[in-house]
Amino acid sequence: MKMQPRFVAALCATALLAGCYEVPVTGRHAVNLVDEKDVTKMSIGMFDDMKGRYRISRDPAQNAQLQRVGNRLAKVVFWDMPDAEWEFVVFDNPQVNAFAMAGGKVGVFSGLFKIARDDDELASVIAHEIAHVTAKHVHEKLSQELAVNTVGTVGMLGVGLSGAPLITSQALSAAYGLGTTVGGLAFDRKKEKEADYIGLMYMARAGFDPQAAIKVIEALEQLSASEPAPPAFLSTHPSHPERILQLMDAMPKALAERERSSQTTAPIIVR
Ligand SMILES: [Zn+2]
Repeated sequence: MKMQPRFVAALCATALLAGCYEVPVTGRHAVNLVDEKDVTKMSIGMFDDMKGRYRISRDPAQNAQLQRVGNRLAKVVFWDMPDAEWEFVVFDNPQVNAFAMAGGKVGVFSGLFKIARDDDELASVIAHEIAHVTAKHVHEKLSQELAVNTVGTVGMLGVGLSGAPLITSQALSAAYGLGTTVGGLAFDRKKEKEADYIGLMYMARAGFDPQAAIKVIEALEQLSASEPAPPAFLSTHPSHPERILQLMDAMPKALAERERSSQTTAPIIVR
């Protein structure tokens, strides 16, 4: 069983059903069955844990770049994540990967700087990862697993105070896709494409050049040609041309968005 979009929309329209939410930017209706506060708390704990387990980069240029780019993006997503306590950390690791978690925790592996070569390109990756968070893709993924009755494999701890199921940190970590290798793609094609779209609008609003999103995917494509990705990666994620086409489609809107934001917020620097 899969929750059909029309069914979800009807469900959310007929009742003020607990757990219904609207995805920012796209306005899509989705259902969340897990305890949101708990997911945030656990995510922050997992991030702290990673900071203890992985070496944190002391590279001044990479750290400064991530703070600069991250802070600009955090400003434009304020209303989508008002409670976030943002933290941007570079991990000293050759993996080409980045992730963002509920609560405003963002990690970048230093290998990412191989394909994200300037602020605009780095912004496109971070904005994509933040979009997964504001769209609550992790919550939705766990909710979908709960809905198809794979509770055993999800790993449920019980029922929280809100009445929503509590999820184990193991299930949460799997939902984040932590441990996947190339490019930080952890979700199904639909969610990846949604994060591409939302991320594109976020980076444009922050005054970055949205065209950089395409350059990054092209660089990722070149990289995966030289380092073949595992089959699971290929079967569940949109192909690079498919992602590029969608981004090209959305580009006029993104450029208009950037134009608008540069008129209303003076300090944004556009190259
Ligand atoms: Zn993604």
